[in-house]
Amino acid sequence: MRRSERERQARKTAYQMSKNGFWVPKDLSLDEYLAGVKSHPTIPEMLNYLSENHRDWEDESDLFRPSKDGVCEKCSVRTLNLDPTSELKSTSNTGFEGAEVHFSKFIADRFAVGKEPITLTLNLHREFVYQSWIEAAHLGHIREHMDEPGLAAIEAQPELNDGALHITLSFRAIDGSHRAALTYKEGKPFAVRVLTPVETLKSTFAIGTKKNPFFVGGYTEAAELLLEQMTRGEAGPNAPLK
Ligand SMILES: [Zn+2]
Repeated sequence: MRRSERERQARKTAYQMSKNGFWVPKDLSLDEYLAGVKSHPTIPEMLNYLSENHRDWEDESDLFRPSKDGVCEKCSVRTLNLDPTSELKSTSNTGFEGAEVHFSKFIADRFAVGKEPITLTLNLHREFVYQSWIEAAHLGHIREHMDEPGLAAIEAQPELNDGALHITLSFRAIDGSHRAALTYKEGKPFAVRVLTPVETLKSTFAIGTKKNPFFVGGYTEAAELLLEQMTRGEAGPNAPLK
């Protein structure tokens, strides 16, 4: 196939996907995007970079949130026995033009199996806590688990800048935010298993309320329903699934 024909096909595919509720890269085809993500530096290099170039931490006033009516929301959500495949972890503020990114904890956990935990630098430890939704009351409920490693993801977002490929790195907290907060508060180290950018991309359930063409979990009927609920603001990190 000629290049122009390939490009025409790629544009057509992207148009169809976006019509079906998928997020699509702006100026790269899906193959080019994935190749861009794969071209990331090594994990230690990326962690080093992210530790030096962390987010703005100015507003720490509401880092630890009070529970509604004194009832720990974290613990009450757990007792609902939700389908583990529907558990999402959402973070915002970086990449994807500020859209909230929702990870499937179920998929992320699968990728994390067998990885050696890495102790976070103080900066990344703080970053992990800062981007999470921490319920103050819950800190007292997880003390016995505080030494268990968390799960972090590194996101690499390729983009064309004046024809050159540029990668934006983001550090994402997937699991263990309360353990991280408790150890942070007490000045103890915290270790995490780290997903590579490709694993991170494949664990991403939704970008904003759009489906991710690289998500390996597949979009079942239940997943589509969840996305609809998210679109209506009925489900999300601070609005437990009904
Ligand atoms: Zn609790």
